[in-house]
Amino acid sequence: MRISLIDVDNKYRDLKKNAKTIPNLALMKLSAHHKAKGDIVGLNLIDPDVTYISCVFTWNQDKALKEASKVHPSKVVVCGGSGIDINCRLSENIECLKPDYDLYPSEYSQGFTTRGCGRKCNFCIVPEKEGRIHTAQHPKEFHDDRFDTCMIMDNNLFMAPQEWQDSIFNWFIKNKIKMLSPQGWDIRLLNEKRAKALREIAHAGMVHFAWDNIKDEPAVLKGLNLLAEIGFDLRREISVYVLSGYNPDFGKDTFEQDVYRCNKLRSRGVQAYVMRYQPRTKTRTVIRGRRLNALARWAASPEIYWKTPFEKYDRKERSGD
Ligand code: SF4
Repeated sequence: MRISLIDVDNKYRDLKKNAKTIPNLALMKLSAHHKAKGDIVGLNLIDPDVTYISCVFTWNQDKALKEASKVHPSKVVVCGGSGIDINCRLSENIECLKPDYDLYPSEYSQGFTTRGCGRKCNFCIVPEKEGRIHTAQHPKEFHDDRFDTCMIMDNNLFMAPQEWQDSIFNWFIKNKIKMLSPQGWDIRLLNEKRAKALREIAHAGMVHFAWDNIKDEPAVLKGLNLLAEIGFDLRREISVYVLSGYNPDFGKDTFEQDVYRCNKLRSRGVQAYVMRYQPRTKTRTVIRGRRLNALARWAASPEIYWKTPFEKYDRKERSGD
C-alpha cells in the first residue's frame, strides 16, 4: 500500500532549509508502523491508498480539511492532531514505537518521556489534552545512535516521580548525549539535585525556563540563584520564557507586568524571551500591539537587550513612529 503523510503545519515550508521545524512525532511513528508492514510511505506521496493528515494548531484546521477534501472518495483519509480534535490519540501499539527518523531530514532523536502535567494553568492545553503527569517512553526507546542529540518534548518532567527523572538524566549523562529541551523547565520545582543533574548534562543550546506569572518572582529568583551557584553561566547558558499579552490571574496591567519580568531577568543577567500568548482560535490570533511588538523585538536582539533598557529603546521606537 502507498501511505501519504501530510504535516499541515509545515507542508509549505522547505523542511531541509528550515532548521526551526520540529518534525511531527505522530507522523514519524505512523511511518515506522507502516514501513514495518512493508508499505511505501512518504510525506505528501502522490497516488496514495491511505492518507494521514496531522494538524497540531487549531488555526491550520481549515487547511487540514481542505487537504482531506482533495483525497479521492474511494481512498482512505484519516485526519488527526490537537488542531482537529484534542482527544485524538495514536493507538497504543503505534504510540510505543521508535519514530522513523528517515521521514524528515532529522538531526536529532525526539520523544516524550512523560505526558501531562500536574498543574492547571488556565492558558495551557496540556492538562485537558494529556491529563495528569504520567511516564511515557524512556529515551533509550526512541533515541537513534546516528545522532549525538536527543530532544525531550516533555511539558513538565520535574513533576514526574523522582526515580523516573533520575533515570532520564542519568541516561543522558552516561551516554554523553546532548539534551535539547525546547519547553521551558518549571523553575518553581528546581532543587539542588535537579540543578546538579542539569549541570552535568551536555545541552544543545540554551536551557530554557518559564516565568508565566508575576506572583512566582520569589521562586524564579531563587531558582536562578541556585543555577548560578551550581555553576551555570546565567547570561550564556540560561534563557527564560516570559508569557506576554496574557495575565493568568486576569489582572489589568499585563503589559507592565511583562516589562517588569523582562527587566527583572535582565538585571539578574538572564536573557528573556517574550513568549506571546496564542489563544486556541481557528485563525492565528497572536496577541500583538505596538508596545508588545517592541518588547519582543528588544528581547530578541541580545546586543540591544544587554546595552539598552527597554524604556529607552521603547522611547526611541516611538520617536520613529
Ligand atoms: S506548568 Fe506548564 S505544562 Fe503544566 S499546565 Fe502550566 S503551562 Fe501547562
